[in-house]
Amino acid sequence: MSRSAHPAGPRHADVMTEGHYTAPAEDLNALDEKVWARTVTRDEHGALTVGGIGVARLAEEFGTPAYFLDESDFRARCRAWSDAFGPGADVFYAGKAFLSRAVVRWLQEEGLNLDVCSGGELTTALDAGMPAARIAFHGNNKTVDEIERAVSAGVGRIVLDSFQEIVRVAHIAQRLGRRQPVQIRVTVGVEAHTHEFIATAHEDQKFGIALADGQAAEAVRRALTLDGLELIGIHSHIGSQIFDMAGFEVSARRVVQLLAEVRDEHGIELPEIDLGGGLGIAYTSDDDPREPHEIAKALGDIVTRECEANGLATPRISVEPGRAIVGPTAFTLYEVGTIKPLEGLRTYVSVDGGMSDNIRTALYDAEYSVALVSRTSDAEPMLVRVVGKHCESGDIVVKDAFLPSDLAPGDLIAVPATGAYCRAMASNYNHSLRPPVVAVRDGQARVIVRRETEEDLLRLDVG
Ligand SMILES: *Cc1c(COP(=O)(O)O)cnc(C)c1O
Repeated sequence: MSRSAHPAGPRHADVMTEGHYTAPAEDLNALDEKVWARTVTRDEHGALTVGGIGVARLAEEFGTPAYFLDESDFRARCRAWSDAFGPGADVFYAGKAFLSRAVVRWLQEEGLNLDVCSGGELTTALDAGMPAARIAFHGNNKTVDEIERAVSAGVGRIVLDSFQEIVRVAHIAQRLGRRQPVQIRVTVGVEAHTHEFIATAHEDQKFGIALADGQAAEAVRRALTLDGLELIGIHSHIGSQIFDMAGFEVSARRVVQLLAEVRDEHGIELPEIDLGGGLGIAYTSDDDPREPHEIAKALGDIVTRECEANGLATPRISVEPGRAIVGPTAFTLYEVGTIKPLEGLRTYVSVDGGMSDNIRTALYDAEYSVALVSRTSDAEPMLVRVVGKHCESGDIVVKDAFLPSDLAPGDLIAVPATGAYCRAMASNYNHSLRPPVVAVRDGQARVIVRRETEEDLLRLDVG
């Protein structure tokens, strides 16, 4: 059976909802607030604006393709998450979704913590002034150099991912004269994607240490014996783009069970559990994500109930949303280049970017929406596939969507909900130049990551 036939859907994919594109939306000019950043609207001429600035001006000033990020939306989402979880819990923004120094400063100002998973992300975080104590370091294969830098900087926690890493981090911490706070990442046998999850005893993947066969209990035993480590809790991350809380329920129950075993064996109650990230967002009008306060309540209730059942004090909970904070805050603006109607099939609309600025459609079969944004149109809808300019037929940005049939070269179209895992996963395929990220707020637009230049490409190519 192929991986994509997995009952939980393609791994890390956003499952395609059959039939979603069989009918156009009633009004192609409407902007569904579920998928667009909060300040996005149309002006009196029908052009899309964000933070009070129209797309024509943005395109002229910053070029296309480009990502436009609604800063006040980003900040509001940070606040919604930290308010929902309150002072008794910790929200870590998963930096891998999109990280820049401006983002790090916003996180600090809004009181969030930060997950990093590489030396590059750690450097960005520290350079922008994030206190090390508010940084968590992740990864299934942290290098010795990365561990040394994280321990020396004094990161608030390192999430241990293997038996070898338990020893590796302990030795490095001891050599540096530190006692490093750590969590152990366990795999709870839950694979969750979008609307479904499956619970099994084992999980066939590279992350973490299995709860099954007493392996996680053994990891705890070893971590507790090592002087360089201060074991503060257990970590579990079950998937991505999840809407169904049932997977978290199983995960939390299994993690709390481990806390109870640790208490019974060692006489200690580990003070923290981290339930990871993976909360879903709306990429199309068919998606119905939960609000942070609903998620906080659901997770809090589950953990409290399971702890009471096991006679444990409720540990401090942390969560790690990445996509759910940054994903909805940005859209990608493209200029339409060529339009190719294929009789009886669909119309191919080519834009000036593609899989180099959004690999998720090619990689995960991800679904996106798209709209004509430089103007409105009352023309009949046409079924389109929005494709890029790369030398690859899989270079698809939006697989199936409707756009007005009077679409013409030079029109601007935008793909919403591209704040997460788009710029972060962007490539230089075909020696394309990675687009800029422009933060827009209260009538001001500011480049936070500049566009690459051909000089940048040549500088890396040392001949
Ligand atoms: C990727 C990841 C996250 C964030 O996932 P989102 O789907 O962006 O919320 C959180 N925690 C860990 C350990 C991750 O690997």
